[in-house]
Amino acid sequence: MKIAVLTSGGDAPGMNAAIRAVVRASLHYGFEVYGVLDGYKGLLEDRMILLNHDAVSGLLTKGGTFLGTARLPEFKDEAVREVACKNLKERGIEALIVIGGDGSYRGALALGKLGIKCIGIPGTIDNDIVGTDFTIGFNTALTTIVDAIDKLRDTSTSHQRCSIVEVMGRRSGDLALYAGICGGAEFIITPENPINKKKIIERMKEFKETNRRHAIIVVTENQFNVHELAKEITEASGFASRATVLGYIQRGGQPVPEDRILGSRMGSYAVDLLSQNIYGCCVGIRDSRMIHLPFVNVLDQERPKNDLYPLLDKIS
Ligand code: ATP
Repeated sequence: MKIAVLTSGGDAPGMNAAIRAVVRASLHYGFEVYGVLDGYKGLLEDRMILLNHDAVSGLLTKGGTFLGTARLPEFKDEAVREVACKNLKERGIEALIVIGGDGSYRGALALGKLGIKCIGIPGTIDNDIVGTDFTIGFNTALTTIVDAIDKLRDTSTSHQRCSIVEVMGRRSGDLALYAGICGGAEFIITPENPINKKKIIERMKEFKETNRRHAIIVVTENQFNVHELAKEITEASGFASRATVLGYIQRGGQPVPEDRILGSRMGSYAVDLLSQNIYGCCVGIRDSRMIHLPFVNVLDQERPKNDLYPLLDKIS
């Protein structure tokens, strides 16, 4: 069998481990494996390279994705997907492994309808995919954020300040939640745990009165303007506050061991599924075990609220 692999949407540390595992497991089964450059864009433009064992050597330590990734809104158009499908079929490639977020899964689901055997692997730092406890890249981004919070705590303690830290995550508050717990945040504001400004200001007033040295607030992106929030807290409570938006730094860096292992397991498992002629589904990890679910069971579903939220009332 000939299969192809691509990375799509936002990059995430550990994607390289997943590509490497797809290639090595494919060769193990005697499959021929192609890497598609720059996601669906490369598929449309027929840019693919044959990968062998050595082509994926030395990748485990590298962040990003060596195949490149891109966003191609035109892929929602069936005529565009037909060209991509034709490119695969002309090379005799019958299966495609897509490493990306839920947008990328939608592309894979649509390609499946044109006769390509597709498998999805969750590669995004946001941990916002249904059907998996963790996505590839989440743990590395979390490590970067915790490191930043630890550093911000040092300087906010020196200056007796409150640090408001904005992190990525889109619709998922997991990065803020886990990082906030690791960094001992006083408040964690996420889509699942919206702001209670009155409560924050009351607490900051108490901190001011008791001469507390620092406070940390972690916020998921797109909730509101964190610089304005800092100003508001400073004015209403008297506790000086500053906002830091971590931005794209969260997407880079050497993958942590958890992401190397997760990428390796998921990449290999995706090829196991193809070897059993199973497709039209995405891979996940649940309770430390590999699972797979049909795309349709994962897309447009709501993630249940994280079990860690009740902890916040007790330990924040
Ligand atoms: P991330 O979570 O990192 O943003 P993602 O995979 O969700 O990753 P998107 O930009 O939403 O990122 O999707 C990646 C690509 O998948 C898009 O640029 C587009 O090419 C394709 N895609 C997204 N939605 C669809 C759709 N409904 N139908 C076909 N293709 C789609």
